[in-house]
Amino acid sequence: MKLKKKIYVFSTLLMFILLVLANILIYFLFERMSHNTEYEQLIGRAKELTSALSKLETEMDADILLRAFIPANGAISIVDSNNKPLINVQSLAGLGKVGGDVSPSNSYTIDRFEGTEALSISMPIIWPTGEVVTMRMTQLLTDVEKNMQVLKYVLIGVTTFAMIPITLSSMTLGRIVTQPIENLIRAMDRSRQSGTYEKLTGVVNGNDELAKMERTFNEMMEQLEQNYMKQEQFVSNASHELKTPLTVIESYSRLLARRGFENREVVDEALNAIISETGRMKEMIAQMLELAKSSGSELFEFAEVDLTQLLEAAVKPLRQAYGRDIVIEAAGPAIVETDGKFVKQLLFILLDNARKYSDREIFTSIVDKESEVEVTVKDFGKGIPQADLPHIFDRFYRVESDRSRKTGGTGLGLSIAKEIADGLGAALTIESVVDMGTVIRVLIPKR
Ligand code: ADP
Repeated sequence: MKLKKKIYVFSTLLMFILLVLANILIYFLFERMSHNTEYEQLIGRAKELTSALSKLETEMDADILLRAFIPANGAISIVDSNNKPLINVQSLAGLGKVGGDVSPSNSYTIDRFEGTEALSISMPIIWPTGEVVTMRMTQLLTDVEKNMQVLKYVLIGVTTFAMIPITLSSMTLGRIVTQPIENLIRAMDRSRQSGTYEKLTGVVNGNDELAKMERTFNEMMEQLEQNYMKQEQFVSNASHELKTPLTVIESYSRLLARRGFENREVVDEALNAIISETGRMKEMIAQMLELAKSSGSELFEFAEVDLTQLLEAAVKPLRQAYGRDIVIEAAGPAIVETDGKFVKQLLFILLDNARKYSDREIFTSIVDKESEVEVTVKDFGKGIPQADLPHIFDRFYRVESDRSRKTGGTGLGLSIAKEIADGLGAALTIESVVDMGTVIRVLIPKR
């Protein structure tokens, strides 16, 4: 059964059962109250009759008195202690025989007389002869039955009318709940069939769970689409970037095969080029793996570290390997709560770029600010043109003039640095003037 139908059937049925139960209760309470009223009236009449009888002197007048007290559509009978009828007065033939079971111990009995209910009471009285007898009084409940019939029709009518808005509202409720779910299923189906990221149209701004579900679905689709596009672009960029060194290696290998055996110069040139290109490919693959790792749900391990010490550790191997003059300006330790391993990797990327793209000394400094520590890497190299600055953190992006350089470089370093900075909650800013140099600042929050 569809959810819409389930909601509709169950809520309608539940309301119907509740209404019917309530009406049955009302019906029987009303019937009980009507019987009690009739009973009170009959008892009143019986008491009046008893006091009138007590004033009688002869048994002869009793019959006349009983006739005067007989209820409309009723009967009065007097039985002696042996249950033998003494007198029986009745307005309908046979009515006097009704109520034989009633005894003074139970308040009243309800029997049927010719299809109509009859209420009987009984009470002991003293007969004019001085004997204790039982008086039975019976009353046909014609009016009560008529009233109960009217009540029955009223309750059935009320239930029927009440079921109309109940049915309509449960149908509406079913539609309200299932409409967004159906839209969602349709969108997912379309996505599955077309292989695209389909979003829901006409999403309302409401604050209820269903509107939130629709909005969250659209946001999720948007994110999936973006991730997919990024990934696709990454893969196509990566394969494109790997193609260049492979083409170089291939052409030099062919050259070696053709002319390598007779020409030593060619061998040297080809091998140098092959070694440099394979080195570049190795570096690129290592960086791509790094990127794949950091764009996953990398867990940073935050702990207290001294940034001055970290910077010294990052600078040392560069000084040794390239013999470059790298200055560190720091007023003692700078303690922050961050992931030291990643900060070191980030600093290494910035320092390596400064080394690659400049020939003079490199300046680094650490400034302890109120809630963060600023690490600066400054070089006096060729700088980056203003037009390239907005793209400098994009994957594989390289300034035009550097693309042909044989010194290496993959265009991935700064995008890795940016991802690390984002993960650590640090800000990365770059300022550069062509032929003057470049300054990169990293603002690392203390906590
Ligand atoms: P890679 O250095 O491997 O090419 P990066 O992402 O680290 O890749 O840098 C992207 C580009 O930004 C470099 O190719 C270079 O053109 C430019 N660049 C980065 N740092 C500097 C710098 N300190 N001075 C000049 N140009 C730079």
